[in-house]
Amino acid sequence: DFALARRPTYVKVDLDAILNNLKILKANLASHTEIIGIVKANAYGHGAIPVAKFLEGHGISHFAVATALEGEELRTAGIHCNIQVLGNAVEDDIPTLYQNRLIPTIADEIFLSSWLCYWRRMQSNTLGVQTDHPVGSVVIKIDTGMSRNGCQPEKLQSLIEVCENNRIPIHSVMTHFAQSWDDPEFTQLQMDIFMETVEPYRKRGLKLHVANSGAIARKVGVDLDFVRPGISMYGQPPDTSEYGISMTKSMGLKPAISWYAKPTIVNQLEPGRFVGYDKTYKCSKRETIATIPLGYADGYLRNLFGQSYVTTLNGTPCSVVGRISMDAITVKLPDDVNESEFCVISADLNDCNSVVEISRKQNTIPYEVCTNINKRVPRVYK
Ligand code: PLP
Repeated sequence: DFALARRPTYVKVDLDAILNNLKILKANLASHTEIIGIVKANAYGHGAIPVAKFLEGHGISHFAVATALEGEELRTAGIHCNIQVLGNAVEDDIPTLYQNRLIPTIADEIFLSSWLCYWRRMQSNTLGVQTDHPVGSVVIKIDTGMSRNGCQPEKLQSLIEVCENNRIPIHSVMTHFAQSWDDPEFTQLQMDIFMETVEPYRKRGLKLHVANSGAIARKVGVDLDFVRPGISMYGQPPDTSEYGISMTKSMGLKPAISWYAKPTIVNQLEPGRFVGYDKTYKCSKRETIATIPLGYADGYLRNLFGQSYVTTLNGTPCSVVGRISMDAITVKLPDDVNESEFCVISADLNDCNSVVEISRKQNTIPYEVCTNINKRVPRVYK
């Protein structure tokens, strides 16, 4: 694996775990409900292109990314499926959206009219006469209470009219939940607003989707046309609560990401020697300190200072001591540890260096820990 990585540190992505998670998620859905695989932010750090290719090979026909450039990256890599770009669509993105056949998520008529103009201009013949090609499809997003992306419910009608009058295909209509994992009442409120808003148009066969991982776990919106799992597909809980961990375990989801490294040097240091920037760690006796070639620029964040561990491959914790540098950490090895390979992030939810445990220490959520792992750390797929 290190040879594959061409660097003495690599992130291992367990594609079988992703497949396992996908099967579990599917078992929670109605038989007609399709999955939109969320592969934004480099597939939550797992590598957008290999993950999307893998999912495409396992029958996933829709993906969503956050930016038009992320969509372009997937198209360039040969992904053929539908690719939705989440977030409020903006005019500056239109050429990239058009060239890569991406599906924008729209929230206002201003974007729609720019979209229409661009498509008409690109598809008119040399005399400037409009040909009869359809315009690229769009997803309409309704804001049902998160107040971030999407149109207000009362705007849906006019957006649908603009689309219908101009033969802009509506791929689907969606909303997004603010707290589907642990606030079922608010989620239901959002769901009710959504279903009420789309009700008059359902006869026209509009496709609908609402559910992220939290909603799928709680079986909200799992019988609509699509669901949009992200974090659960990667086998992590959305937060660091005991509820999150036990729910993830009881569903049978498996973390797909782990991170390994080999020391670049191991020193026996005399008592009194300092380790790292700012001399924050001083050896109290003769100690074995290993330097591991990854740091905060790789996504092993500096605020883990004084509280993190790497483990040996059989699980012995070794304290990370001293400051976390940009490109290196220093690890105090217990006397009986003589290993040449360490686990920096474990795929086992019970370990002291699981994504959840690291999230706790950083006072953040598993999404941030995974997406922070920089692209310069090679990914190895198993
Ligand atoms: N749908 C939308 C619109 C999102 O922004 C996200 C992620 O932020 C998801 C779905 C996936 O959410 P999760 O990773 O919690 O499943």
